[in-house]
Amino acid sequence: MGKMEIYMCKSCSKYTFPKKYFCSNCGSIDYDLVEAGSGIVKEISLINHMLGQKDWKPRNIANVETNLGICITVGIEGNIEIGDLVTLSLDNGVPIGKRSR
Ligand SMILES: [Zn+2]
Repeated sequence: MGKMEIYMCKSCSKYTFPKKYFCSNCGSIDYDLVEAGSGIVKEISLINHMLGQKDWKPRNIANVETNLGICITVGIEGNIEIGDLVTLSLDNGVPIGKRSR
């Protein structure tokens, strides 16, 4: 598991995830990485099937508002409810949220 990091534009400080080639705000191509360690669950979706994935098991994904204020979509480990605080990390490049205790 790695740290969940968000791209921050070096010239206008706008957060972006996933990374875009140009900043959508100012067009800059220079980014800094900023850690987004936690977030609040805003929306949960159960994904029952994924096209082209044979061994897919039903799993939750959630829209999470990170501590930086930007909303991202993450995979969820374990049970989750809207309003829960989750710890964010990266698993093989995929953002994962886990309920904090
Ligand atoms: Zn920018």
